[in-house]
Amino acid sequence: MSKLLTSYILCFIIRYDTIWCMKCPFCGNLEDKVVDSREAEDGLAIRRRRECLKCARRFTTYEEIEERPLLVIKRDGRREPFDRKKLEVGVLKACEKRPIPFEKIEAIIDRLVRELRRGFPNEVNSKEIGERVIKELRKIDEVAYVRFASVYRQFKDAAEFTEEVRRLGKFPKRHA
Ligand SMILES: [Zn+2]
Repeated sequence: MSKLLTSYILCFIIRYDTIWCMKCPFCGNLEDKVVDSREAEDGLAIRRRRECLKCARRFTTYEEIEERPLLVIKRDGRREPFDRKKLEVGVLKACEKRPIPFEKIEAIIDRLVRELRRGFPNEVNSKEIGERVIKELRKIDEVAYVRFASVYRQFKDAAEFTEEVRRLGKFPKRHA
């Protein structure tokens, strides 16, 4: 590998790892190396332990991860900002009076939000969100699942709803 390419890759790795260098609070030098990186508890910030390349003293930076605006494309094509609260209300309603601990619901929503933000940089279809919630609820509680699905998929009539419930094995199979 050529020397230039090696140094270019190395430079990229350094830039990637440090994102950008911070001014040393002791000597003002602009070059440092990151000796430790860890995500803050809420996952919305990164704490980095840095070492100045000139004076070798260490300092900590706390970088907040800017939340990108995520737009939800509704059925009629209108866009609205993604609202975690709204998602939470819908899921909680489906789980009402079901033996599901609140922590479990929170954990599901946390994961869903993380996956959505990771998987969809700008826009996401409301259908995509709904289907993901349905998939999660199906794993933990059939009643909550059917409740959510019936609202979200807007079953056209009672027959369609019954069919969904039947698929869960709650009703005996009808003979064709
Ligand atoms: Zn320094």
